[in-house]
Amino acid sequence: MTNSIPELYGSLVFNDKVMRDKLPHDIYKALRKTIEHNTHLELDVANSVAVAMKEWAVENGATHFTHWFQPMTGFTAEKHDSFITPIGDGQIIMEFSGKELVKGEPDASSFPSGGLRATFEARGYTSWDPTSPAFIKDGTLYIPTAFCSYSGEALDKKTPLLRSMETLSREATRILHLLGQTDVTSVSTTIGPEQEYFLIDKDLYLKRKDLIFTGRTLLGAKPPKGQEMDDHYFGTLKPRVSAFMHDLDEELWKLGIPAKTKHNEVAPSQHELAPIYDTTNVAVDHNQLTMELMKKVADRHGLACLLHEKPFEGINGSGKHNNWSMITSTGVNLLEPGRTPAENIQFLVFLVAVIKAVDEYADLLRISVASAGNDHRLGANEAPPAIISIFLGDELTAVLDSIEHDTFFGRQEKVQMETGAAVLPHFFKDNTDRNRTSPFAFTGNKFEFRMPGSSISVAGPNVVLNTAVAESLRQFYKELEGTPADKMEDAVHALVKRAVLKHKKVLFNGNGYTDEWVAESEKRGLYNLKSTPEALPCFTSDKNVELFTTHHIFTKQEIFSRYEILMENYCKTIHIEAKTLQDMIRRDFLPALMCYTDAISTSINEKTAAADLPCTAEKKLLTRLSGCYDSIFELEEQLEADTKAAEETVNIEQAAKLYHDTILPDMEQLRAVADAAEEYIPDDILPYPNYEALLFSV
Ligand code: ADP
Ligand code: MG
Repeated sequence: MTNSIPELYGSLVFNDKVMRDKLPHDIYKALRKTIEHNTHLELDVANSVAVAMKEWAVENGATHFTHWFQPMTGFTAEKHDSFITPIGDGQIIMEFSGKELVKGEPDASSFPSGGLRATFEARGYTSWDPTSPAFIKDGTLYIPTAFCSYSGEALDKKTPLLRSMETLSREATRILHLLGQTDVTSVSTTIGPEQEYFLIDKDLYLKRKDLIFTGRTLLGAKPPKGQEMDDHYFGTLKPRVSAFMHDLDEELWKLGIPAKTKHNEVAPSQHELAPIYDTTNVAVDHNQLTMELMKKVADRHGLACLLHEKPFEGINGSGKHNNWSMITSTGVNLLEPGRTPAENIQFLVFLVAVIKAVDEYADLLRISVASAGNDHRLGANEAPPAIISIFLGDELTAVLDSIEHDTFFGRQEKVQMETGAAVLPHFFKDNTDRNRTSPFAFTGNKFEFRMPGSSISVAGPNVVLNTAVAESLRQFYKELEGTPADKMEDAVHALVKRAVLKHKKVLFNGNGYTDEWVAESEKRGLYNLKSTPEALPCFTSDKNVELFTTHHIFTKQEIFSRYEILMENYCKTIHIEAKTLQDMIRRDFLPALMCYTDAISTSINEKTAAADLPCTAEKKLLTRLSGCYDSIFELEEQLEADTKAAEETVNIEQAAKLYHDTILPDMEQLRAVADAAEEYIPDDILPYPNYEALLFSV
């Protein structure tokens, strides 16, 4: 392997450089045109590309190819075909055609479709997304594809994402032309998803059924030390973690994934990786690959990577900050305020477009991050609340304020930081401070959506963001259309003022963790959709169906089917958790507790027989633990009965309500007693590793 990182970087990617080297010039140009302008790709071009791709892949050790897609499971899917084609005489050649590159026909019947696909229409189609580069992994050429049903409905996360990117590009370009930026031909959205995760010892992981089956611990007493000392955040990397990160970086770089930042996070054993931002669909694909490689590389290092939103009680869970912006074909970041944001009308239009979008479609943003796992984070004072508001920072707030009140906004000079030490270099303060409690924060030249959970595909939140902002821009265009050029500045000013007046209720610079904000947000009429079953029904409201159908992101049928899939997922997740907890209690925990109480009573009997000792403490402990045994037994029976009732509930909304209102509290109660008992059980009797071992052993 090469030691040079620039050489290593992208070495397994069929990227622009490889295309230029391998493809005849006219074919290369035709392909670029398709990639840049979303134009149709002719079959003869596809054939040439396929030949070049296969040659390159075989040179780099590939024997197979796969269409790689992102069904509604939240994971990626692949089916490998080899390049071999028999030519008689028992001989073969390696072949790959344009048709195989462009289209695949996997059986779709075993992927979630939410009733979209009748079983007699089992066929699904995958079609090549030429805007996301193909790559080689484990001897297979991976071709990023979209996945749809026989009748053309989207069955995946990529199709709506691509649709939403095209819509935003069209609406943004139209309005830029109106503002005089006629050289802009398209607008892309960019994201940089920061990924949090936990690393624990693999041997310990394998001893916990809850981690294996549900990704989170369902039992476990708190260790004496948690994250209260704030000593893990940005702390020195332990050698095993450092070796893992090093290895991971190299694997990611080979695939052209620009992993940039790595550090320890707040909770013990928690870490973060951030890439350099990229076009949204490429970055979404890269994030899926990053999650997959994290698990794989961890395994090589005897570690297990946990991507669940809340693997451990009592310490922070993991999120995935979605940094988002828009960039023109001419290279301008549309959320860059420049030195004088008050005079930058283009910036103001796009800023208020986002504010309006977030205010009007806060419910959809909330839904886009809703899952059983993420419900443990949102509103738990470690992640943003379930209420969506926007943090703008002082300067932009003042700019919008002055527009609203027709007052003059004086240019703010940047303040130089005074560190008090002459040896330190001088630098300027950023215009936006960090407000960690805001779910949607302006951070200088982009927005950071902080609600997504660590395990989800960020396709969903970005579909909502892109579409909602496109809708704002569509309405703005209608308001501004026909305005003469010399009146445009005034017209935009008036438009921004109207939008600020109407949507400022979603702006909030304060502490989002407080009860006062909950009360205040209610007065302002903001959504507070606390749990997944509470949030999901908003997906199918008239307002939201209209948004998605107007912009051709989802058909009404696709929306309802997705709603169904999300609800089912929620129920299934908690059902598996309930069953796993029952199993652990019945077959592991109670027998261990029995073992320990037996040992105590034997000791009492022996001491009494030998010396007629009173055994006061032992008896007290025995009584306490025996009481726990009774409670746990009873609570487990209750959980079992309630789980059965939920299983038998046909109506999906009612079932989700049961899982949320009854099963989760059952599990919590049961856990509380078991955890209290665990504190007394010696490590060698406890049937699985405790929190101390899990969190502090790497
Ligand atoms: P933080 O302090 O939250 O880590 P950073 O400035 O390091 O903030 O950026 C975090 C993420 O935001 C990185 O992945 C970075 O690439 C991404 N980012 C920066 N600029 C943009 C942009 N214009 N569009 C999308 N993401 C961006
Ligand atoms: Mg961040």
